[in-house]
Amino acid sequence: MQLPAILGDRVELQLLTTLRCNLKCSYCSLGVGEVLGSQRKVTYTLDALDAFIATHLSGYEIYVTFYGGEPTLNLDLMMAVMQRHPGYRFQLQTNGTLLDRLPDWVLAGLSNILVSIDGGEKVTDGYRGRGIYRRVLKNIAAVRGRVGGTLTARVTWSDADTSFEELDRLTQHFDYVYFQFVAQDGAYAPEAVAKKRAVMAQLVQKFFAGETLYPFIPIMGTVRNKVLPSRAQERYSGLTQCRASTHILNVMPDGKIYPCPDLMYLPEMLQGDVVGNWLKRSPLQPHPDMPCERCAAFAYCRGNCMKNLHLAYVKGDAAYRENVVEPICELVKFLGEEVDRHDPHAWYARMPMSVRDRVADCAVYEYVEVMP
Ligand code: SF4
Ligand code: SF4
Repeated sequence: MQLPAILGDRVELQLLTTLRCNLKCSYCSLGVGEVLGSQRKVTYTLDALDAFIATHLSGYEIYVTFYGGEPTLNLDLMMAVMQRHPGYRFQLQTNGTLLDRLPDWVLAGLSNILVSIDGGEKVTDGYRGRGIYRRVLKNIAAVRGRVGGTLTARVTWSDADTSFEELDRLTQHFDYVYFQFVAQDGAYAPEAVAKKRAVMAQLVQKFFAGETLYPFIPIMGTVRNKVLPSRAQERYSGLTQCRASTHILNVMPDGKIYPCPDLMYLPEMLQGDVVGNWLKRSPLQPHPDMPCERCAAFAYCRGNCMKNLHLAYVKGDAAYRENVVEPICELVKFLGEEVDRHDPHAWYARMPMSVRDRVADCAVYEYVEVMP
């Protein structure tokens, strides 16, 4: 039997409103293959998008993430989509520098805002430009009471010197913190890995020490997947939690659709087209050469990042496998071991219902990769 293009009962439309950005982050993944800046405006019409939705997505619960480049640079498109489909759920992924320009009704209509930040001030400003860290936190404080949903820090954890205190401090400004290990050669020298392990051990220690929720998504997700293993599979049909194999459609400004925003430079990843009104199943799928099913972490990790696995084991990029993918997998395994040391089942059993509910079913799991 042929599988449908979208697995499950919901679909995330990740609309890249522009590939322009007002910052120049040194590690930006859209820089690969000259994608960044190549499509400045959306060239499909909203009528074409509606026809695509009617043809391929009817019956699914639809949620939209505005993505870029910096999506707020095309605020007109964001507002037009929100006005046209007021029943959808909306999320914004932003660098946070222009948040204070968003109208109140847009802020009120967002169920989550993912704000990119790199940890502390020195590291963030080092990658993003002087003054950016303070500007982003100032904007967060300015909009916080007007956002309909949650504010989540999205940390690309790249720097070896990012400290526990810097990550911990983000919980004062955001409802949740999600961190993801940078996919960059050179970031995983033995000393750098040792530092990341030490910081993760502190984060996990603090997570289990309190009676309230310590809102770090990768730790929450790991605990959820260990205590309620079926939750690691149900929203993703047993595939990767980043949704790239099942139900996320990254729509480029020209209407072309790809499963992963980091692989839009590979023609074989083309999955559909709004303008041509066609869609097929994600080409980014598990492959027998990937090691996940033989891995001790698979029950909770579920094949963390399919892009990384694809490049390392299907494309056969040995340097990328050794210098990026394998070190990240070791860190994921370490996270699982640290969680196990604190007996997550006993912790979950003694937590108040409000904490258990958020660990089991946090809405932010639907917007991020869950695993680091
Ligand atoms: S840790 Fe690595 S090998 Fe293991 S399941 Fe996760 S992605 Fe796959
Ligand atoms: S985690 Fe998923 S969406 Fe993110 S880069 Fe990897 S494959 Fe792409």
